Amino acid sequence: MRSLLNRAAHAYYVLDAPLMEDAVYDRLYRELLELEQAHPALLSDDSPTQRVGGAPAEGFVSVRHRIPLLSLDNAFSVEELEAWYSRLLKVLDRTPAAGEPLPALPMVGELKIDGNALALSYEHGVLVRAATRGDGEQGEEITANVRTIQSVPLRLQLASPPPWLEVRGEALIPDPVFAAINRERAERGEALFANPRNACAGTLRQLDPKVVAARRLDFFAYTLHLPEDWQAGTETGDPLRPGSQWQSLQWLQSAGFRVNPNAALLSDLAAVEAFCATWEERRHELDYATDGVVLKLDDLRLQDEAGFTQKAPRWAIALKYAAEEAPSRLLRLEAQVGRTGAVTPVAIFEPVPLAGTTVSRATLHNADRLVELDLHSGDTIVVRKAGEIIPEVVRVLPELRPVGAQPLQLPHTCPECGSALVREDGEAATRCVNNGCPAILRGSLRHWVSKGALDVDGLGTKLIEQLVDRGLVRSIPDLYGLDAALLASLERMGEKSAANLMVALQASKQQPWHRQLYGLGIHHVGEVTARALAQAFPGVDALREAALSDPAPITAIHGIGAEIAQSLQQWFATPANEDLIQTLRQRGFALAPAPEEQAAAAVEPAEKPLAGLTFVLTGTLPTLSRSQAQARIEAAGGKVTGSVSKKTSYVVAGAEAGSKLAKAESLGVPVLDEAELLALLA
Ligand code: NAD
Repeated sequence: MRSLLNRAAHAYYVLDAPLMEDAVYDRLYRELLELEQAHPALLSDDSPTQRVGGAPAEGFVSVRHRIPLLSLDNAFSVEELEAWYSRLLKVLDRTPAAGEPLPALPMVGELKIDGNALALSYEHGVLVRAATRGDGEQGEEITANVRTIQSVPLRLQLASPPPWLEVRGEALIPDPVFAAINRERAERGEALFANPRNACAGTLRQLDPKVVAARRLDFFAYTLHLPEDWQAGTETGDPLRPGSQWQSLQWLQSAGFRVNPNAALLSDLAAVEAFCATWEERRHELDYATDGVVLKLDDLRLQDEAGFTQKAPRWAIALKYAAEEAPSRLLRLEAQVGRTGAVTPVAIFEPVPLAGTTVSRATLHNADRLVELDLHSGDTIVVRKAGEIIPEVVRVLPELRPVGAQPLQLPHTCPECGSALVREDGEAATRCVNNGCPAILRGSLRHWVSKGALDVDGLGTKLIEQLVDRGLVRSIPDLYGLDAALLASLERMGEKSAANLMVALQASKQQPWHRQLYGLGIHHVGEVTARALAQAFPGVDALREAALSDPAPITAIHGIGAEIAQSLQQWFATPANEDLIQTLRQRGFALAPAPEEQAAAAVEPAEKPLAGLTFVLTGTLPTLSRSQAQARIEAAGGKVTGSVSKKTSYVVAGAEAGSKLAKAESLGVPVLDEAELLALLA
């Protein structure tokens, strides 16, 4: 672990090209720290836990800081924050007696800007030196580069400045500038920067200040060091010597520095927690990266009293935002059988908090992915979950693999029904092809009742499991033969929920034709395809006819190709599916449009030009309002979502577009203006 983390730190601090995600580094680092604390005999001087930052890079003059630049201790949860606060009270000898409330010490909450720390030295009000943090004791002298940053004053706005002054703050590259830099690098065929922080570090180490100037760095000041005995002259109108961090920020601002406007003076731990929660939400409104909040004891005398550990002040802590990626230890591999019989390998691992929830399982998609990842038993894996997306295993850290670990493979037989699994040539999926497999049945039932299909309320996964396991339901139509008394007798069901479910099942028979078709779960027939097919074919008989005899009218539909036609052909050629259609009909399903539907279809345009496309709107468009633009896109068959991902087809950007535009640019998602959107609609 030490050698891996040392390598990662070198790549990160010296080469500006990280080997792993920050959150992954942070977790492994924490684990190493805990191991060393539990086994002090294992501690060694070369451990990454024993130093701040990285060694100064070559090519610059290394300078010793007048006052060392330390790191910050991290908390990854509110509980850890509270534990830190208790330790702080103890050091300050203010631990309350049992039963007494915690004393409230005012704190300053600041954003933890994900940039690069700079040490600025002023003499008699003039900037004389700027240096990187380096290893905390010595950094690289980069004055010429820092002079190009507009928000760093070259001369302080003070009538009578102190003989010397040290300021610390964060240099950063705003997201839109970062996107532009990477775009240019891509055009020149150069390696892209992994994130704005690395781009900023790389820029600060440019040998040519003109390049630095062109990259428009920004700077927020947050720490002030003054000579111990210095006081502002009262007659000068200069701000008085600060006695707190809050006053320091104001002092810095009066002296001409840019101070982040989002800092807040917080009176107690509850206010601190509210501040953290707010910024975890609102961070996306900013056009620069932050990875947490920093909390600092406000009173400078109390800061002095609390002092420092070897690496960091005791009076401050960084509370990191919930990570989207984290390392974990693989416990075992499970095979999950879906409704199509496709077997998905699922990794079961030690629980980790990710993007606001605790996760302990993640999909590996298919057997190829398993081979690609080269997963071994006991591996340390990197797991990712962004927003709502299902967690996935991103990669393995082979450096941390236990000696003698065996590679993992998918089983050869279905874990549910024991029949042999098959994998057809050219198919990524390994499948169970036993029609009676309970896993496939459960999956088909879940699909049938899901929101986009028949949308039956009150028939959840657990209930489906009971119905299948007890042999009460052997096919979709069996759902419609259930009676209320039987349902009410099942676990976690009562008369009321049983009656509601009976009503919901009955009502589902009135769902439109395209939903019934989608509910059948034919391979490759998703919601959009089902709609298109339902529009073109007035019922299951016409569709069967085309699928089995002449697929031309199917493939003539916009967005539908031979693959779907073939899948339909196979589905209709399977006798069990013909039975399914007949039984559904007997149960009251038309499997055709209701008369009203037919009438509506007649007036709808046959083709939706934006079907299957996903849009994200950002900024102010010149003529259309957001809701007008959304309505036009949806009317043309497109979808509008709130956040940009690789799956986004287009981002429509207007004036003052913010982080969504930057994200689109960094992901290479095409960006349209209003005129281009209108052209697409036409
Ligand atoms: P840190 O970044 O967690 O915290 C200290 C730093 O926070 C300060 O030096 C300062 O630059 C910054 N900061 C931002 N806003 C601040 C504010 N308002 N007040 C005070 N400080 C503020 O600790 P670190 O010692 O710089 O190093 C750890 C960081 O580097 C972590 O984020 C870690 O993930 C990353 N790292 C990553 C890798 C990798 O492989 N990806 C390797 C090494 C380090």
